[in-house]
Amino acid sequence: MIPFAGNPLNRASEKRTDTNWIESKRRDPSSLIFPMWRLQPFLLGSEKAAPPLDLCLVNPEIADSLGLDDAISVFLGLDGEQAVFALDISEIANPTKTGPLAGLGHFRDARMAGSMVSIEHAAIIAQAKAMIDWHQRHGFCPKCGTPTKIMDAGYRRLCGECKAEHFPRVDPVVIMLATHEEACLVGRGKLFPSGMFSALAGFVEPGETIEEAVRRELMEEASVKVGEVTYYATQPWPFPSSLMIGCFAKAESRDVKADESELAEVRWVERSVARELIEGKRMDGIQVPPPIAIAHHLIRAWALGEK
Ligand SMILES: [Zn+2]
Repeated sequence: MIPFAGNPLNRASEKRTDTNWIESKRRDPSSLIFPMWRLQPFLLGSEKAAPPLDLCLVNPEIADSLGLDDAISVFLGLDGEQAVFALDISEIANPTKTGPLAGLGHFRDARMAGSMVSIEHAAIIAQAKAMIDWHQRHGFCPKCGTPTKIMDAGYRRLCGECKAEHFPRVDPVVIMLATHEEACLVGRGKLFPSGMFSALAGFVEPGETIEEAVRRELMEEASVKVGEVTYYATQPWPFPSSLMIGCFAKAESRDVKADESELAEVRWVERSVARELIEGKRMDGIQVPPPIAIAHHLIRAWALGEK
């Protein structure tokens, strides 16, 4: 399973418009509240604890004692009969030092946290982080500029003036491993750490299919012409709201040229080398992303001959 995928919660989307049900679950002592502070998830225990870590979920009474009546609250779903909500507590200055959350856990960068918790918990972090991030960036109507109001347990915002409705965004990104016989193509972005190479990627543009985006990006970034494009898997990537669409693309030749405005370098890597890279080794001055990234899983599937 790819991290940030595999959410175990039942989203129970049919309940979102039932305000009474949502309100009663929000107050139900058996419900769980997942605090997010400045887009960082709350994790159980100390910062120094060794992974795997657990999410730190609190009961509604503790959440209410924070005194955040207007804070963004999003119904994440049901774990059996138990409702789980995310709560944005960003306005508290230092929630782990004083107040009802002090001593319970710590807040950590969402991407880092995603690699330190179970697959199931990482997926809950992805949902909570992407949803709260969206609310924080959509307080005003893009059509008329009026403040918008949170609706449907967090899954809609409504403009008070022009009545336009706004829904949480998911932005599709293609990420593709071009292959040619026994080699695959990796590139190093200009801002990547030294030696870090990954599969090439780019946003799908309006009016474009996934396959067309894969072909366009490979041509733009590396001047590689590809034939067959096949889908592999997707990964929710909540930074802030991407859906990574992993693909393989068969290159027609190994002629490449990096687009210097985006990439520092592109390289073909032999399958035998790729097998070592996915074990975390550095080979020929190259390393590839860790398993938190779908690029790792694309390279792994190809290197092991699964694709
Ligand atoms: Zn409006």
